[in-house]
Amino acid sequence: MDKPSVRVAVTEQCNLSCDYCPIAGDSVEMQSTRLNLDDFKTLLSAAIDVGFQDFSFTGGEPLLTDNSAQTTFELARFVNDRRPKGPGYTKLNTNGANILRYFDGIVETGFDELKISLDTLRSEVFRRIAHRNESIFENTIEGILKIKDKVPVRLQTVVGEYNKDEVSTIIEFCVQNGLDIKLFDLSSYDNALSGSRNFADDNYVRLDSIALDLESEYGPPSIKYAVGGVGHAKKVFTTPEGTKIELRDTSVAAHYSKELCGDCPKYPCQDGLCNIVIAADGHIQFCREGGIDQTVSLRDSYGNLYGTDKLVKGLAMAGNIFSSSQYIQRTIAPRREE
Ligand code: SF4
Repeated sequence: MDKPSVRVAVTEQCNLSCDYCPIAGDSVEMQSTRLNLDDFKTLLSAAIDVGFQDFSFTGGEPLLTDNSAQTTFELARFVNDRRPKGPGYTKLNTNGANILRYFDGIVETGFDELKISLDTLRSEVFRRIAHRNESIFENTIEGILKIKDKVPVRLQTVVGEYNKDEVSTIIEFCVQNGLDIKLFDLSSYDNALSGSRNFADDNYVRLDSIALDLESEYGPPSIKYAVGGVGHAKKVFTTPEGTKIELRDTSVAAHYSKELCGDCPKYPCQDGLCNIVIAADGHIQFCREGGIDQTVSLRDSYGNLYGTDKLVKGLAMAGNIFSSSQYIQRTIAPRREE
């Protein structure tokens, strides 16, 4: 099995406050200070030496401030320069709110893809889910429409009761503008920004009927896993225009590791193992739902990053946990049935 992808959370902070998102997003609630640029480079260098070759830059929101944006661009260029040529990617996960502000930096960095979170084309729904005003929503749409001609874009849309009636409109928007799209079912996190699990429970929508509609329109899907063969079995539909529509449905099964998940009280959790996260404070995070309990710090008690040998060992151990994981059917439905 290949190595999983690595998400590099350059910050834990965000400019949106989406109800379903866990505090700190892809990162963890901070246990110590944020890594500095040199520490991030040392860690990424070790990750490349271990054989990781697929990297996404994320947060929080990586384009939140001048500092986080410049850190993101510099680290992405560092990875692009250092990573062996051939398979592998460097991508950016963003909510899109600051694309216009950092347009040149994004384009010049040379990302293979922008994964832009957007759940709606209606400003009132955006306001309700992301708790931010219309001008941010309008900037996001404008940014997407401008950047799509420079860098491939995939929208990331979390489907719930709040937007299920506009899924076909969002897909049509993607087809018309040459964007790919990935639809997610709602994940439920104990530390969601809504303050409780109720938001996910109350808004969960199964993706089965959307999959059936897409199949009748575009034919049978191909099946795709995350890099390294982990994550969920995602259905991928292709429209005649070439738009890829991916469906991530957590309701059937997920990847788990005997070693990591054996004693975990959350087993079998909804998300399972999808990718390794290098959190903004220097932890390796294995899974979102395990929170800080399922992380390993790469810093000593004084806050200094470990030496290269220890970093390589820690990252290799993380890779091995993923490569020995198994795809296991669930006996529970993660959320309410429709
Ligand atoms: S929360 Fe993490 S450790 Fe626990 S079962 Fe899920 S993937 Fe495994």
